[in-house]
Amino acid sequence: MDKITIQHLKCNKHPNKNLQFIQVNDVLTQPISTKPLFYCSSCFNHDLHFKSINYLMIDQIFQESDTNIIPKWPPVNNYQIISDLVDLTSNQSSLDYVKQITDFFHQFIEEFLNKIDVIQKKMINEALKYPIDTQQIIKRYQEISNILQFKQILNNEQPNNLEDHSTLCKEFISQMESQKDKNTELLQSLLTQANQLKTNFNMEYPHIIKQQLFTLIDHISFFNLDIPEVSSTNHNNTKSHFEANITNQRNQIVDLKLTSDLIMKLVSNKSNFCSDQFINKLSESLQSINPILKQFSFKTVVFKENKEQIDFSKISDEKINLIEEYVKHSITLSRGEQQFEQEVKDSQEIKQMTQIVNSKMSFLRQEFIQQFEKFLVDVKPFLKQINFTNSFTDKNKFDFFRNLKDNKWNALYEESLPNLDLELFATNYNNGQRNCVINKRENGYYEIEKLNNIICWVNCISNTNLEKDKKYIFRIKVENLNESHFFYIGLMRNSNADQNYGYKEYLSCLLQKNNQSVIKCGSFGIDKQLKGAEFKTSGENMIEIRLCLKEYILEVLDFPNYEYKLGLQDKYKEKLTQFDDLRLYLGTYFQGSKLILMDVKIVNEFIN
Ligand SMILES: [Zn+2]
Repeated sequence: MDKITIQHLKCNKHPNKNLQFIQVNDVLTQPISTKPLFYCSSCFNHDLHFKSINYLMIDQIFQESDTNIIPKWPPVNNYQIISDLVDLTSNQSSLDYVKQITDFFHQFIEEFLNKIDVIQKKMINEALKYPIDTQQIIKRYQEISNILQFKQILNNEQPNNLEDHSTLCKEFISQMESQKDKNTELLQSLLTQANQLKTNFNMEYPHIIKQQLFTLIDHISFFNLDIPEVSSTNHNNTKSHFEANITNQRNQIVDLKLTSDLIMKLVSNKSNFCSDQFINKLSESLQSINPILKQFSFKTVVFKENKEQIDFSKISDEKINLIEEYVKHSITLSRGEQQFEQEVKDSQEIKQMTQIVNSKMSFLRQEFIQQFEKFLVDVKPFLKQINFTNSFTDKNKFDFFRNLKDNKWNALYEESLPNLDLELFATNYNNGQRNCVINKRENGYYEIEKLNNIICWVNCISNTNLEKDKKYIFRIKVENLNESHFFYIGLMRNSNADQNYGYKEYLSCLLQKNNQSVIKCGSFGIDKQLKGAEFKTSGENMIEIRLCLKEYILEVLDFPNYEYKLGLQDKYKEKLTQFDDLRLYLGTYFQGSKLILMDVKIVNEFIN
């Protein structure tokens, strides 16, 4: 009743017009008396300040409010919201979410059932290939055994003639018995087939599949917020998100979900050498079962403590191949096969390196050489990176020095040491300075010559005391000496040099010319045999004195062969540290004797 009344109310100002509009906004701020709430079309025309946003058609409320959104109702601050809602509701199909979901499930159920139906039939057909039920087994048994025929024969009504009956039965049994092999074979086959299904039948697997399907179905969702990877890609890149996860693991244990991404990252490691096809296929398969994978979550880190994947992807293929080769090599070595190890040692590269470290020029300790050789064997594959052909600037020189004998080496070494500026002079004892002349030659040698045959020993000594902690080498050459003539070499105290024969201190060795050599011929301290038997020089008749006072070393050797070595007798050794004025001593007697002090050197070590 009210409806009809309002719709047909006439305007107070224009009585022939129906009321058409109602003010629905700015009502609150206006005093009711000033302006009418209802308008007819004439009121509308006459209102010069008419604001259409404030007025609603009364008809529209009646006709559209049941089914539509009314654009100007209710009063709001932003009418765009209502306008958008109007737009949204005008496009019917895009809002049909429930229908879309329903359609999906209808279609899904239908396809699902069809698929199950197909697989069910397929499985039943498969099972029917086997003699599965008891009836079938019995039926097949009856065929093979002819038991029913047997029964028939026994049933034949020939009660009067047991003999005939017996003959018939005998015939039948005999025939069946003659087929013993065949019967056995057929029955065995029946048994085997029946058992085959028993062992081949797996009820567990379909249950697992069923469970997985249910799990997958549980994950069906039409809402992005429920789908983890979609929601995370919306915010940031999945991959970097995942990598950040792995990096964070070191500090915090996260609830790690097993995902296709994670498995792919582990499997597609460059050093696994997986083929692209395999990686692609695997990735595809894993992505399809990702929802299942995510069922498995681990409250644990991926890698061991303080470990992470080796970043093989960041090095070149060439290096990867080298590493692969090294690993194989190392595994073969670890088997401990002598032949393989020998082959490696015999390789050109290692032989050459071994020659170099083994050469005397390297001056390496044996322990180091062994370690280095072992290392070379271990890293043989990496030696490929070095070109070993033409590695020497002069292979001939290398071989020459490599093959040089030890004594030659030492001679070479000592020759290169600077000579000490040590002067020799004859003391006044026995008028030494008149009877003996010492010349310093241009090349630094000292030449000692006895001038006359006056029967006396002359002491020739060095101009300085010898230092306790130094290792001295003195080389004396016998330039001129008649057969069986002799001379002394050794040490004496400076304080005795003008008063006594040097050899009386028992720090000397008496030597004598014998044929072309010089031999030992008396015991004056230095005659303890340390090497060889007796003493004999060769060639140029060079004699070497080695001295280290602090270490109680005072020795006489043949130079350069070092075949003989005489040392100071133990009972005189304490003199070496007791006296502070010990000097090199040469005692000469015979006219024409000529001795030359060739070398005076200080060395770090006495070799040989
Ligand atoms: Zn009016």
